[in-house]
Amino acid sequence: MSALAPFANEPLAELRRAPERERLLAALRELDAELPLRVPVWIGDGRREGDAIVSTDPGAPGRVVAVAAAASAAEVDAAVADARAAFPSWAATPAAERAAALLRAAALLRERRARLTALAVRECAKPWDQADADVCEAIDFLEYYARGAVILAERDAAGELLQPPGERNVLVHRPRGVCGVIAPWNFPLAIPLGMTAAALATGNCALLKPAEQAPGCGGELVRALREAGVPAGAVALLPGDGATGAALAAHPQVQTIAFTGSVPVGLEILRAAAEAPARGARHLPRVVAETGGKNCVIVDADADLDDAVPGIIGSAFAYAGQKCSAASRVLVHEAIADALLERLAGAAQVLVVGQAETFGTTVPPVIERDAQERVARYAELAARTGRLVAGGETAVPAEGWFRAPVIAADLPSDSPVLHEEIFGPLLAVERVTGVDEACDRVDALAFALTGGLYCRNPRTVEHVIARSPVGNLYVNRAITGAMVGRQPFGGNRLSGTGTKAGGPDYLLHFTEPQVVTENTVRHGLVV
Ligand code: NAD
Repeated sequence: MSALAPFANEPLAELRRAPERERLLAALRELDAELPLRVPVWIGDGRREGDAIVSTDPGAPGRVVAVAAAASAAEVDAAVADARAAFPSWAATPAAERAAALLRAAALLRERRARLTALAVRECAKPWDQADADVCEAIDFLEYYARGAVILAERDAAGELLQPPGERNVLVHRPRGVCGVIAPWNFPLAIPLGMTAAALATGNCALLKPAEQAPGCGGELVRALREAGVPAGAVALLPGDGATGAALAAHPQVQTIAFTGSVPVGLEILRAAAEAPARGARHLPRVVAETGGKNCVIVDADADLDDAVPGIIGSAFAYAGQKCSAASRVLVHEAIADALLERLAGAAQVLVVGQAETFGTTVPPVIERDAQERVARYAELAARTGRLVAGGETAVPAEGWFRAPVIAADLPSDSPVLHEEIFGPLLAVERVTGVDEACDRVDALAFALTGGLYCRNPRTVEHVIARSPVGNLYVNRAITGAMVGRQPFGGNRLSGTGTKAGGPDYLLHFTEPQVVTENTVRHGLVV
């Protein structure tokens, strides 16, 4: 492994270049000719197809992207049994060999990059730049965790514990067993693959339950891992909805659940984990949970609005505000509030709302009808109880789950618009008397995922950092776009269990540490 180059992020596509755009459009045409993809329940060598789960294009809901079987509770049982049978051999595979399989999977993703990007465009309405970043992040996770697992094994072998005379102390990190991976739809490639790769790199067997909105993407990921040499027993595909996820989370022989999604589902999974011993589990299931947010950007009176306006607009409205890290509240110093509001409103009004497949679109449709209705409800509440500064007047295509961007101001301090995760293109702006009032409001939230600060005074920057509870704080830049190895990502408080995906400590959550201490004075001749 030492022969491997140090980790570097996969370069994003140069979408400004016409040939690059042409290549992607050609991949989209090819993919369209193949639709709908058939996604099986895939356990070992057994594949069962079905049509219980159907994913459609959010921009053209009549277009079926993938048709999948839904894994039943009995199939979840069978997958767990299969994974348990495969576990001893995969766990005993040297870390370098497991890493090599993940690196081959990364190479396959590179080869299939245009197709995977097109699939994320179709299945989840990710605009091209966002879909491309999703594929790059998926590749990054494979490359990063492959190296991380080898580094961990080398550290274990080198021994870092104190060794007083007559005593040998060894710390090793063993795989935990079977890992259930339960993923959201908004990063349909990077997030499921990141969690799966972490489990596999450390020698666990992984059962992937992709989001019901994105089974097509999940199917491509497991296919790549299998073709790269991950044994069939070590990685299975369990498409399905919440019921499949719940069966996986409640299974007494699943040692780890890696979950990314909403807070209510995260809490259900934690509850199921607490009850596992009562159902016969001989372990405390570990839940690695990355959940929702209510992300605030603080803008102080001395902020450079030329930076702040595009940073806030991009953070709030790119991919229609459907990133867990997206900005949903701005807390601006009253001295510059009117100027900022006017500029934000102007910028929101010229955002391009359109189909994900159209280059230049910033605000694509939201994922499904329920999401469209949810965002509309919050927008109506904001209009009724506050003031809309940019009010959704942008024309949107008639077909598809579109919502034009909305910016609201003057909301009552207890408004649900200010406290609940909306997950759509709606930004609320509040006036504050200074950064301390802004920090008080941030601190009053139960969520603590991402946050931002625009400010030019270094002392204020330090002060806000010290008062900030969020997992990822961005200063004088957009608050989305965390990159593997550069911004290890994950929230605090209700936003997550404090793990940092894409960071040096993430893999530890998938391991069972063991310390062996031997009294070497007792070494003698075996007779
Ligand atoms: P969701 O919670 O509705 O679903 C996530 C996954 O959980 C899906 O696969 C779903 O089928 C499954 N599920 C649903 N009910 C279940 C149950 N009872 N038991 C087990 N599994 C169950 O979330 P979503 O709509 O797919 O994604 C959006 C949410 O994810 C937002 O809240 C967003 O903030 C969050 N998110 C967080 C991060 C992060 O890193 N913190 C990243 C992306 C998304």
